[in-house]
Amino acid sequence: MDNDRDTLLDLAANEAKAYLDGVAHRAVPPAFGTDTLLPAFSEPLPAHGRDPREVLELLIANAEPGLTAMSSPRFFGFVTGGTYPVAMAAEWLTSAWDQNAALREVTPAHSAAREAVEGWLTDLLDLPTGTTMGTVTGGLMANFTGLAAGRHAVLARAGWDVEAHGLQGAPRVRVLVGAERHVTVDLALRYLGLGTPQAVAADGQGRVQVDALAAALATDDSPTILALQAGNVHSGAFDDFAAAIPLAHEHGAWVHIDGAFGLWAAASPRTRHLAAGHELADSWATDAHKTLNVPYDSGLAFVADSTAHRAALGIHAPYLVQSKGAPQPMELGPEFSQRARAFPLWATLQYLGTDGVAALVDRMVGHARTFAEGVRAIGGEVLNDVVFTQVCTAWGDDATTAEVERLLLAGGAAWMTGSTWRGRKVLRIAVSNHATTDEDVRVALEALRAAYAGANG
Ligand SMILES: *Cc1c(COP(=O)(O)O)cnc(C)c1O
Repeated sequence: MDNDRDTLLDLAANEAKAYLDGVAHRAVPPAFGTDTLLPAFSEPLPAHGRDPREVLELLIANAEPGLTAMSSPRFFGFVTGGTYPVAMAAEWLTSAWDQNAALREVTPAHSAAREAVEGWLTDLLDLPTGTTMGTVTGGLMANFTGLAAGRHAVLARAGWDVEAHGLQGAPRVRVLVGAERHVTVDLALRYLGLGTPQAVAADGQGRVQVDALAAALATDDSPTILALQAGNVHSGAFDDFAAAIPLAHEHGAWVHIDGAFGLWAAASPRTRHLAAGHELADSWATDAHKTLNVPYDSGLAFVADSTAHRAALGIHAPYLVQSKGAPQPMELGPEFSQRARAFPLWATLQYLGTDGVAALVDRMVGHARTFAEGVRAIGGEVLNDVVFTQVCTAWGDDATTAEVERLLLAGGAAWMTGSTWRGRKVLRIAVSNHATTDEDVRVALEALRAAYAGANG
């Protein structure tokens, strides 16, 4: 059986290398859709298990035509894509080491790595000293974690223990969000029993209008949570933290920032100004599986007040080893058993260094600017101020934009995401892969030019 194990790991490593060698050359969209793939995957489950090599080979054969090349350097969809080899290698070791990282004393190697990363990122992202960091599955759970700490804190100030009594009979918590917050903020609030938030009007780039926020804050003094945004998925815009956060604090509000990809702006001297004032907030959510290019699932939840962080999410069962000092990983996020997510983070940050993270961010922003110029040169419209990594394009009327998207994906050279923004059909370009080169941007622009010509021809 040991032989089997080595054969399986070698087989997986060889297949991974072959896949990655080819990923820049294959069509970005998958060859087949789910319904086409389903018959091969859903052959009846055998009563007796199969040879594991055969199983892996079958998995590879079945999956290959249904893989979207999300790590292609010409995948510009969503706000994701790309993994550093060092992060992937550390991720494989994470599986081999098989640490259940919930408790500090039980998995010390992971805890030490996590605490180191917590310190590095607190500095790199310019967060207050003493901030605690939970490693969670993604931006949704990072938003959940920050908002849970906020729910704890604003209700504690109102004399209510939400962990003990829940929300039944609690003072009403008012939640203010920007009109263009990410949907995961709403979902996190739903999980927290806080319902649909109250939206504050946004400006033309999707930023919260500070005068509208001031008016909303002034209408009542119930316990308040405000969720702001670093990086709008359509425009890349950042809320005006320096103006909004002190205003919200005057009203006793907890301020959370969803910075799933945008918080990384704080890591580069060239983009830091976009996030100015973000350090005044109470909690922050970001994704390392977006800008930092580590594998999924790697969300990060930061909370300045460690006590609120642990009070909201800690569990104190008698059989759990409790430390008095540093927090348990499981007190910093919603999960109990958890993957040792700090290892790939530690490896990637060591590999890049602070200058490397800044250069990564700068390179992405540079590509976004090249895209914006290129799109205008082809005859498309750029609807946003390209301040960060997002370029929101339109190609005439909605039907033409939809046709450009269809032809672009059919061509296979690049992937961009169709969406609707401010009432218009758009094609959104998000730069998120460390491996994207100037040549990839040129090829993707060529593909856009061809799609636009096709849509008009
Ligand atoms: C991607 C994203 C999220 C959600 O993050 P997941 O990792 O997909 O859960 C939240 N907010 C913003 C702004 C995002 O871009």
